[in-house]
Parts: sequence; structure tokens; C-alpha cells
Amino acid sequence: MKEKKKSRPAAKPAAKPAEAQHKTEEAAKPAPAMSVDDWVNCRLIQAVRERADAIHFEPGRRGLMTVRLRIDGTLRPVHTQEQPEGVVTRIKKMSRMKLEDDRTPQDGRFGALVDGREIDFRVSSFPTPNGESFTLRLLDRATLIPIDRLGFSPAGLTKVREMMGKPRGLVLVTGPAGSGKTTTLYAMLNEIGKSDKKVVSLEYPIEFPLPNVTQSQIDPRSGYDYATALSLVARQDPDVVMVGGLDDLDTAQAALQTVLGGHLVLSSIHAHDAAEAIGRLLGMGIDPLLLATGLEGVIEQQVLRQVCPACKQSVAPEKMVSQMWKLKPGQKLAKARGCKECKGTGYKGRVGAFAVLPVTEELRDLMLTRPQPSALRRFYFGKPERAAMIPDGMEKVKAGLTTYEELMRMGVALQHPGQTD
Ligand SMILES: [Zn+2]
Repeated sequence: MKEKKKSRPAAKPAAKPAEAQHKTEEAAKPAPAMSVDDWVNCRLIQAVRERADAIHFEPGRRGLMTVRLRIDGTLRPVHTQEQPEGVVTRIKKMSRMKLEDDRTPQDGRFGALVDGREIDFRVSSFPTPNGESFTLRLLDRATLIPIDRLGFSPAGLTKVREMMGKPRGLVLVTGPAGSGKTTTLYAMLNEIGKSDKKVVSLEYPIEFPLPNVTQSQIDPRSGYDYATALSLVARQDPDVVMVGGLDDLDTAQAALQTVLGGHLVLSSIHAHDAAEAIGRLLGMGIDPLLLATGLEGVIEQQVLRQVCPACKQSVAPEKMVSQMWKLKPGQKLAKARGCKECKGTGYKGRVGAFAVLPVTEELRDLMLTRPQPSALRRFYFGKPERAAMIPDGMEKVKAGLTTYEELMRMGVALQHPGQTD
């Protein structure tokens, strides 16, 4: 990599003294009148203040760089400008990455205090033909949310707590990327940690320090992977074990062996719903008997954007919507508008929609037959508990927390109970 010296961009020959500067040229003119350290810091502060989940630094052609922020699940461009000199070196130094390696993806992290909040930045670099692309994920320690404030319905929360109280079994949290699976797992761990149970959590990486939980960061590069950690975890005499994610057969198999050993195991799997999650595990080649015996329940989750309280409107729903959901006469629903507060999007913050699905005897029997995903889906359709996510999302619409349009956008409503497949 070309090591560029950190330097203030030289003043342009034609530049006039301060009073002649015009903001209008800012977008077109490259060189920012600040050091590269300050430039990067500004991007970080902006991301934190706008409640972004991630910052993307994307190199483009002709030496341009685009900066985008992911806010409430949507990627928003903030800048395109000439790539500031030394920016790659600066980000890599902060993240403790190897400066000389610009051909392979690297991982790094750093912490920063912004507006009194401790923020953890998880950094990933990827080589592209235009230079290295960086994605910084923001993790705020303050987002450790108590389980009763995640957005479960009272009935859903009772079922989750029942599962958490079991002496053994595998409880899986599933949902698409960015749906808050880790937040749910941490909320569960945090609550169990307050009890008289020994909790061991295997993570990659450790996202937050949790009181009363023995957290161990796995290190696959040195051979300490999830499966190895699980094979040894019993020596810690745990009641409850958390495993970051069941992404491969070895880990999934080891997690279920841990269940057989008499432990409650909490984990997550990336899938759209419970049917897909079970289908994925069977597709990996897991022993159906092991899965049918060990799986205790699945928590499905989706995330909906919360309608901006500053500018939302209440409107009468369309007749079709009103009939379909049997809304009370006169019930109004929130409509997103857009204002300065929400940057014109109409949405600010997020709210979860959940379905809590304990495994039934009928489902255990089905799993033993190595069902295709379509058979699993047919099983879940028409089950009142499977339909919980839809009414749960709709409850949030009725409560004015989000809009019907948002529920439709997330595809939650597409699984309407009346639908056959
Ligand atoms: Zn607004």
C-alpha cells in the first residue's frame, strides 16, 4: 500500500482569505480544509448523532469516495468527494489493522467516547479495484435493553420466560440480518445472569460486558472455535450456555450435544422464519433425532421502522385494510410524513415484531421425517402461534408506533393467516 503522509491539504493557489469562502462549492470541491484525522472524526460523530448502525467508506472511480450511513435499516448517502489523503491509513491505524496489507480483507475495532456515550466501532476492510472499502459497525453499550422493553407482547414474553426457565433445550432466535437477534440474546442472558444460574457465553466477538455472565471470546484463527469451546464448556459447570450463532454443522451439532448433556443453550441462526431456520439446520446435515430431541423453541423476529413522533399523521385506513384486520370503526392509523427531525423519511427509531414458537410434539414428529422446507412452512401456516408475528406487528400499527405501509414493506403481512402458501 502506498503509505501517504498525514498532511493538511495545501491551500489552493487561487483560494481567497476566509471571508471569500463559499459553502456552495463544498460538494464539488475535494480537499476538506481539515486534517484527515479531523475529517474521519467528523464522520464518526455524525454517524453517532444520526443514530446510524454503520458507516460505509466506499472508494469509487477517479479517486472519489462515497460515505453512506445505515440508519434504521436504510442506507443513506451523505457525501461523495475526492478521497481525502491518508484516510485509508488513518482508519486502519485506528482499527489496528496491518497497514502494509491492502489485498486481503481485515477485521479491526476501536472504541470512542462520543457525546458521553461509549461506542464500539467494528471495522471491516475489503479490497476493491478502486482501493480498500471500509464498513464500520457501531455498537452502543447503552443498547442493552431489558427483555420486557424489547417489544414482546405480554403473552409472548411469558412464553420466552418459560423457555428461559427450562433446565435443558435449545432456544433459537431467528430473523433476517439487522433484525436485532443479538440484542434479544443479550437481553435474555442479562436476565438469566441475575438469577442463581451459572451462565457461560461463547462469543465472536464479545459485544458487551455482562455482569454475572462468564464471557469467552472464541478465536477461530488459533483453533478455538465454537465447536471446540462447546466441547469443553461443561467443565465450567454451567446451567446456561450462549453460542453466538449456529452457522455450520460442527457448531450446531456441538450445541445440541451440550443440550443432551443437560444444559439450556441459547443461540441465533440467520433465517427469515422458524421454518427456514429448521430447514437450514436439517440441510446442513444435522441428525434429525438430535434436533427433534433438543430444540425447545424458536423466537422469530423482524424489525419495523418506528414512525416519527414529531410529524406522524393519523388517517382513516383503507376499507380493505379495515375489513381484513377487523379494525374498530373510527380506528385511525399512523401515516409517515417527514420532517427535519426524521430527515424527511417519516421514520425514526425501531420497533420489533415477534413470534414465540415453542416446539410441539407434532413438530418433533415432523422433524424426524427430514421434512423439506416447504413441508415445514405448511406446518407453520395456520398455527395460531405461528401467526403471532402478524398480529404482533399489527398491534404495533394499531398502537400508532409504526405504519401499515411499513408492516407491508417488511413482508410481515405477506404471511397473513388467511393465505394458503
Ligand atoms: Zn419526522
